[in-house]
Amino acid sequence: MTVIIAGAGIAGLTLGLSLHQAGIPFHIYEAVEEIKPLGVGINLQPHAVRELFELGLEKALDQVGLRTEEVAYFSKEGNEIWREPRGMLAGYNWPQYSIHRGGLQMALYDALIERAGDVITLGAMVTDFEDEAEGVKVLLTNRRKKQFLKHVTGQVLIAADGINSGLRAGFYPDEGPAVWGGTMMWRGVTNAPKFLTGRSMAMVGSKGCKFVVYPIGDNDDGTSRLNWIADLALPADYDWLSQDWNRTGTRADFARYFKDMGFDWLDIPKVIEQADGIWEFPMVDRNPLPGWSFGNVTLLGDAAHAMYPIGSNGASQGIIDAKVLVREMLAHGVNSAALKAYDEDRREVVNAVVLANRGDGPDKVLDIVGERAPNGFDDIETVMPLVERQALADGYKKTVGMDIEILNARPSILTV
Ligand SMILES: Cc1cc2nc3c(=O)[nH]c(=O)nc-3n(C[C@H](O)[C@H](O)[C@H](O)COP(=O)(O)OP(=O)(O)OC[C@H]3O[C@@H](n4cnc5c(N)ncnc54)[C@H](O)[C@@H]3O)c2cc1C
Repeated sequence: MTVIIAGAGIAGLTLGLSLHQAGIPFHIYEAVEEIKPLGVGINLQPHAVRELFELGLEKALDQVGLRTEEVAYFSKEGNEIWREPRGMLAGYNWPQYSIHRGGLQMALYDALIERAGDVITLGAMVTDFEDEAEGVKVLLTNRRKKQFLKHVTGQVLIAADGINSGLRAGFYPDEGPAVWGGTMMWRGVTNAPKFLTGRSMAMVGSKGCKFVVYPIGDNDDGTSRLNWIADLALPADYDWLSQDWNRTGTRADFARYFKDMGFDWLDIPKVIEQADGIWEFPMVDRNPLPGWSFGNVTLLGDAAHAMYPIGSNGASQGIIDAKVLVREMLAHGVNSAALKAYDEDRREVVNAVVLANRGDGPDKVLDIVGERAPNGFDDIETVMPLVERQALADGYKKTVGMDIEILNARPSILTV
């Protein structure tokens, strides 16, 4: 009956917590030898937060994240384009969180160990498998030592091994590396005065030169710990192939493009200048797939649907995957039928999110205004009327599964 999970990232750990709650035996094998709180900020949307709350993680999330109160969009001149409340202030029954990715991963990890005990083996990379009629036989190796560890057997194998999933590559050997659309991201963290509500997420500029910023923590001196991302379009021959979340970035490569974004509500050049650390990562995703489940093996989280970090849905969709998969196991048993049903329920829905994000998702409002009013504007209504801005924001929410009324009204995933 055991479910074998490859990867203790956010999706794999959420699956572990959900299986534990459902009473289904599982074991997670994670390639790294130590889980460290790596990465910078991410946002968890109410549809995913709901699932974590149902796992009893509300207190843990409040300890590591901030409840986001609004999202605001500005032109490169600092003129307001769109502003909307978020989380419970918007009418959702659940908050949105701005959170440190590593802090969230550690919180999930700690909760799982505390509840389920010895269910995670570190330093064990799922390297290969054989799918046999009665289940899967999985080969584990130690990545660093390049050493064979052992074979383990289980009923099904869930590949939650991230954007560069080796297991996905086994099913799609011709796919190659993740797809780069030409945008580089420099990410950083800066201690700075609170801006707007102190719980706001702001997007400034437009495609090709955009700054995204939100607090992921409060400091004792009243300042915020601001997480920011500077997006810049670069020529196709730029060295984007290195996808290392820890690759350090250089201010001189991008800061000058943001030098005029010093506003009375936030001094962006200063935020960049005073960063504690800067990292560089290409904005990459994966092409939508025609299938995730193959016999007793399936893909989950980024392994199934890595997407641009636009609209804050990468981690959120992985969390929903985990819940849907467990629901199907409860309905069909721990077998290939459950994996097939999960694929049928989730794949097309999430593929649509991947494609929506390629079109800039909700941030498209910036691109439209930037094209129509390249030198700024006095009255946003004359550039992009409210009804058009509202339709764009609402449309994205429907695509990703976070329409307020629909989400509030639908029963829990485990019961639908
Ligand atoms: C170190 C790191 C830092 C990140 N930082 C950011 C960030 O700052 N901002 C952001 O938006 N997103 C970041 N991400 C991506 C973000 O976490 C994911 O998009 C999202 O959370 C989906 O999670 P996931 O569990 O599907 O994948 P991931 O979080 O990528 O987790 C995959 C896990 O699988 C493990 N793994 C890989 N191959 C194997 C294998 N063969 N066998 C066993 N284990 C394996 C990896 O070590 C990793 O722990 C980061 C990811 C990582 C791994």
